Amino acid sequence: MSDIEIARKANKKPIQEIGAKLGISSDDLLPYGHDKAKISESFIKSVQDRKDGHLILVTAINPTPAGEGKTTTTVGLGDGLNAIGKKAAICIREASLGPCFGMKGGAAGGGYAQVVPMEDMNLHFTGDFHAITSAHNLLAAMLDNHIYWGNEQEIDIRRVAYRRVMDMNDRALRQIVCNLGGVANGFPRESGFDITVASEVMAILCLATDLADLEKRLGDIIVAYRRDRTPVYARDIKADGAMTVLLQQAMQPNLVQTLENNPAFVHGGPFANIAHGCNSVVATTTALKVADYVVTEAGFGADLGAEKFFDIKCRKAGLKPEAVVIVATVRAMKMNGGVAKDDLGAENVDAVKKGCANLGRHIENVKQFGVPAVVAINHFVTDTDAEVEAVKEYVRSQGSEAILCKHWAKGSAGITDLAEHVVKMIEGRSAQFAPLYPSEMGLFEKIETIAKRIYRADEVLADKKIRDQLREWEAQGYGDLPVCMAKTQYSFTTDPNRRGAPNGHSLPVREVRISAGAGFVVVICGEIMTMPGLPRKPSAENICINDDGLIDGLF
Ligand code: ADP
Ligand code: MG
Repeated sequence: MSDIEIARKANKKPIQEIGAKLGISSDDLLPYGHDKAKISESFIKSVQDRKDGHLILVTAINPTPAGEGKTTTTVGLGDGLNAIGKKAAICIREASLGPCFGMKGGAAGGGYAQVVPMEDMNLHFTGDFHAITSAHNLLAAMLDNHIYWGNEQEIDIRRVAYRRVMDMNDRALRQIVCNLGGVANGFPRESGFDITVASEVMAILCLATDLADLEKRLGDIIVAYRRDRTPVYARDIKADGAMTVLLQQAMQPNLVQTLENNPAFVHGGPFANIAHGCNSVVATTTALKVADYVVTEAGFGADLGAEKFFDIKCRKAGLKPEAVVIVATVRAMKMNGGVAKDDLGAENVDAVKKGCANLGRHIENVKQFGVPAVVAINHFVTDTDAEVEAVKEYVRSQGSEAILCKHWAKGSAGITDLAEHVVKMIEGRSAQFAPLYPSEMGLFEKIETIAKRIYRADEVLADKKIRDQLREWEAQGYGDLPVCMAKTQYSFTTDPNRRGAPNGHSLPVREVRISAGAGFVVVICGEIMTMPGLPRKPSAENICINDDGLIDGLF
């Protein structure tokens, strides 16, 4: 059965019942239909003094193109914790329409570990991404309008940094010329579109603690520079107030449910490359106030996703994760061990053993943050017992434990062992979370620290131009910001084909950008795409409404 067929058979409860499980009364739920609701700002304020539950991060080895099942495992573990009698909720990201119509793969989990309603979640949902798109583009429109009406801020129109966004994969808009058509239409200049999830407004919404913080951060966005290179902020264009108004509803986290009727917070969805790649701080902190266990996910492999979760999100929001689950699959071990994609079906214990080095490095890395880790082997039907045993044995040799999980096929019943283990880890109170580097460290030293300690590179290669830029930002008072690494998710290096656990490489930094509102410096290593294109055969070609009036082709 496909994911959508399983999801359609779900026995959904009214969203008020899901809220009641967390002690959220229907007055505090703003329903969007029968099965989705936003949690009111006043409720969020009212629970601030409560004690926090336990936070669990789900991350993964370096992924293979198929996806390793982080979201599926996040959903499964949430259900598993509920099944063993714990009050648990999950926190995941909202879906972007780009990948939805591009390459196969939803954002709601898979098999019997899914969030419903999956159609809504993968499409318009509660309109948050539309609100973010509008808020972002309002600032773009006001910026060009400011220039048109005399450019009081003396913006150098060759140095406008702010682009427009749309939630679609559309390579035709990557580079454009705007303001064409003569005097009445402004001053022609080059610009372009990014996908909405790459918008700084998205990252800001996901890191802001409340509306006041949101407004301040929006005002801090650098939109352009003057001829003397001084920055022009969104505040100078007077757009921050109206942007906040457009985002007021979107700031409230969305509540939905899993196939097993357990609460799921689905809120925000920043890109995992030029942003930090996890759900909103507001959703996570609220979930921690109303549930005893909160399971959340970070995008990509642990070298990128977990590092940014810890060093950006947890640092900024004061979160203290107590356990990490590293998702691994036998298939991915084999690929890391050198097997080609088409040969993954055949048993190959040697390749599994060889690929385990990649997993081992992620285990070591996670421990550097002071949080205990367990490995979840996300079981695929093609895995053989000998292959699974090889992974378990390897992980034991690294001083951790690997647990076979069958949540994709069986729901919570397939993942109770992992749930029990995670509870035991948390009750052992061994976690002593600390970010990898202190905020006071220099920006370049921060990059070096991540390169050496997480990627195990020998050196960072960066032009004088890049080093000068970092020093200039330090002089302007941005030195305390964390760095947000943008590199391939397929390797510890910048070469996507270098799998396993490589050593002795160098990390070339191509470009650095500042997201002053979100509060991080983006470090671009290798190619990065802020407006993806559609593949030769986009999945949109197969999406339609069938004779029964139901959506077909959405995974
Ligand atoms: P990630 O969050 O790591 O990108 P997802 O959890 O979204 O990965 O899963 C990606 C895809 O893989 C989904 O379509 C899901 O149904 C599928 N998948 C996940 N786990 C399994 C499994 N154990 N067996 C078969 N398919 C799986
Ligand atoms: Mg995912």
